[in-house]
Order: sequence, then C-alpha cells, then structure tokens
Amino acid sequence: MKAAYGGIEAGGTKFVCAVGTGPDDIRAEIRLPTESPESTLGNVIDFFRQQQVRHEIAAIGVASFGPVDPDPDSPTFGYITNTPKPGWANTPVAPTLRDAFDIPIGFDTDVNVAALGEHSWGAAREMDTFVYLTIGTGIGGGGMVNGELIHGLIHPEMGHIAIPHDWDRDPFAGTCPFHGDCWEGLANGPALEARWGQPGELLPPAHEAWALEAHYLALGVTSIMMILSPQLVVMGGGVMEQEHIFPLIHREVKSLLNGYIQSPTVLEGMDSYIVPPALGGRSGALGAIALAERALHAS
Ligand code: ZN
Repeated sequence: MKAAYGGIEAGGTKFVCAVGTGPDDIRAEIRLPTESPESTLGNVIDFFRQQQVRHEIAAIGVASFGPVDPDPDSPTFGYITNTPKPGWANTPVAPTLRDAFDIPIGFDTDVNVAALGEHSWGAAREMDTFVYLTIGTGIGGGGMVNGELIHGLIHPEMGHIAIPHDWDRDPFAGTCPFHGDCWEGLANGPALEARWGQPGELLPPAHEAWALEAHYLALGVTSIMMILSPQLVVMGGGVMEQEHIFPLIHREVKSLLNGYIQSPTVLEGMDSYIVPPALGGRSGALGAIALAERALHAS
C-alpha cells in the first residue's frame, strides 16, 4: 500500500487526527478533546505512533487555531502564539511533532488549510483566488490569491475587520476582547447567543436574529470581495450550519454591492458564489492531509 499522510485539525475544543491520502482514502481517524498542550499533543503522538505500525506516514499537516506563526523561516515556525486560550500561548506544535516523528511537518492556520482542502477536493477546485471563512466561536478567513495560500506579514485576520455597527437596531456591545464590535465581535456564535439569550442552533429560522446576522455577515463578505476579488466565497463553521442563512446573505450582499461588480458570477450566480464547504466539516482534516503532501514535496 502506498504511503499515507497524517492530518491534524487542531481546534480549540477538539483535535481531529486522520491518516490517509484524501477523501476516498481515510484509513483511520480520531477525535481528541483539547486539554492542556502537553496532554493533547501527547495523545496526538500516541495516535500516530499506533498508526505507524500499519501505515507508512510520510508527512504530517496541521490546521491550527491561532494566532500562529506559519513562516517556515521563523524561529517560532509552527507555534501557536498569543492565543487567549488558557495554557496554549507559545505552544510549539510543529516542533513537538517534528521531534517525535522526524518527518516533514506542514503547518498553517485552520482556515488556510480548510481552503486548501476545498481547493484540492471541494468547492474551490480550479479556482486560484478565493476565500474560506469560518463563522463559529470566532470568525476567521483564509484562502488563496493567485494560487498561493495567503500569508504576508503573519496571516490574515479577516474576522477582526471593522464593519458598521447598527446601534439603533443592535445595542449589543460585541464580544471581541480586543476590539469589542469588530466583525467577529458582532457576528460570531457567542455574540448571537449573548444577544438573543440562546445559541444559534436553537433560534428558529424566522427569528429576527437571522436577518441581523445575515446583515453583519454580508457587510464583512462584501468588504473582502472588494479587497481580494475572490472567484468564490466558502462559508463554514458552526453558525453556517443553519443553512437557511445563505439566501439571506446572498440578498444582502447583492444589495450592498448595488450592481457595482460587473461579473455574471456575482450578478446572476450568487447562489453558487457564496457557498457552504463541499467537504462539510471535513475541510480542515482533509486540507491537513493535502498540506502534509505539500510539506513532503517541499522538503
Ligand atoms: Zn476583534
């Protein structure tokens, strides 16, 4: 059997670890709760050690919550850096894995890696400039520009852009510890829950919460469209599992654009322009496998 890759979706509440080569060849998978860095990474290492008995693992890719250092030339490459998550600041994730396995380790933001998964096997095949947004406990955005995953100074923080706060309609101050009512502060899952007193999955589709949520999400998406000119916008994460919100977002984005972007993709095809991930909740773990393959070929 040909060699496999390890993929790790390192999230704030769970780590998903998989072994395989793609969506049609997942040979093993496990979900581990996110505990302390020592215990979580210890469990991750145990899982892959067990898998190595049966499968040759050529490289491992990591899709990590952040902020992170994704620069391979940096001394802190592969670290989770200044995260507010207790105990996890300055955690050397990729170095710990490299020390344990001595194979190439790919490492990037959860959203860039999910974007790579959608590019490899999902909604963004054939696209070279697109974004992947996650709307959940936080809001994050990654993607590709001209065929390259977006990095730059550190990595994009699309969730923390400023959007107009409709104070008359919405006196809620926002949840972001850094900016209060930035995009994430107004539109993440905890903001929905704090504003309306119950989590999104319990709010019925006709609840007024969704019109306001769609309005805020559309403001952020429209700004990103103006800046990056993406060929596709993929929106995943817990909040977007309420798929009835997609048509509301389509309508709001169209209204905000007001006919300005003269592309038939946007003017006529909004339904297939802003879409859920084709890989569902598996974009991250599968993207991590694609990232591992890249890490092997780059080594
Ligand atoms: Zn913020």
